[in-house]
This record gives sequence, structure tokens and C-alpha cells, in this order.
Amino acid sequence: MAGNRTFTMIKPDAVRQNNIGNILAKINEGGFRIIAMKYLRLSKEQAGAFYEVHKERPFYGELVDFMSSGPIVAAILEKDNAVADFRTLIGATNPAEAAEGTIRALYATSIGENAVHGADSDENAEREGGFFFSHLERP
Ligand code: UDP
Ligand code: MG
Repeated sequence: MAGNRTFTMIKPDAVRQNNIGNILAKINEGGFRIIAMKYLRLSKEQAGAFYEVHKERPFYGELVDFMSSGPIVAAILEKDNAVADFRTLIGATNPAEAAEGTIRALYATSIGENAVHGADSDENAEREGGFFFSHLERP
């Protein structure tokens, strides 16, 4: 029986630090199945559009610069209770507050450069997956 889905990105800091393999291993150990995955670099405009919901936040400009600073890995993951369980696996936004053993505790360097993205609701997971993948690419 298929579980439900979440959306993730391995951010430019983690790609630069050669942590793609380590993070994918944590994702698999966490019981997530990869439904779709791609490696690409976002333009500033694309990063700005993805994070549109944060437009009014003080960190928006920095976030857009960072997320377009190098390649990322975008993926759709499947598991029962995927959204909540993935947020638990990645840990708090600020790695200083992230629980031991979480992806952000292990691989993030700061609140901005925090290694991974995880969708925060089923609705956003669907919307964010649709930003990167066509219907053909997410069976
Ligand atoms: N961010 C930041 N400064 C902050 C809060 C967030 O640079 O004070 C960045 C960080 O990369 C974070 C992203 O903006 O992952 C989105 O913020 P959100 O509050 O949605 O955190 P998340 O859902 O990623 O834990
Ligand atoms: Mg968020």
C-alpha cells in the first residue's frame, strides 16, 4: 500500500560539501522511497518563485541568493506520514536547535545554510513537487 508523499531539496551548501550521498542514505534509512529526483541549479528568479511565501520575511533576499548559488537535488519521497516524519528526520530549522542525529544536526552549518528543505504540509508537498516535476516524472 503506497504511503503519502513529501518534497525535499538537498541545498547548495550540502551539495558543495559532498553530502548528497550521506543525506540520501539518511533518507533511505528513515524509510522513505524516492519517487522522483533531479539535480539542477535554480536561477534567482526560480528560487524567488519557489520561496514566494517568504517574500515579506527579512531573510528572503539572502535565501534566494543562497538557493541559486549552486546546484541542488530536488526529490519527491514516499512513506506513511511522510511530511511529519520527514520534518522529524531533518530536525529544526536552526541546526543549533536540531535534535542529535537529524540531517540538519549532522550537515547544516547555519539557520540559513541548513542542508535540506522539507515541505511543511501535504498541500505544500504537492505544490512544491509540481514546481519541479511534471506528471510524467512523478508517477
Ligand atoms: N531561513 C533563514 N533565516 C531564518 C529562517 C529561515 O535564512 O531566520 C531560511 C532557511 O534556509 C530555511 C528557509 O529560510 O530553511 C525557509 O524557512 P522556514 O521557516 O520555512 O524553515 P524550514 O521549513 O526550512 O525549517
Ligand atoms: Mg518551511
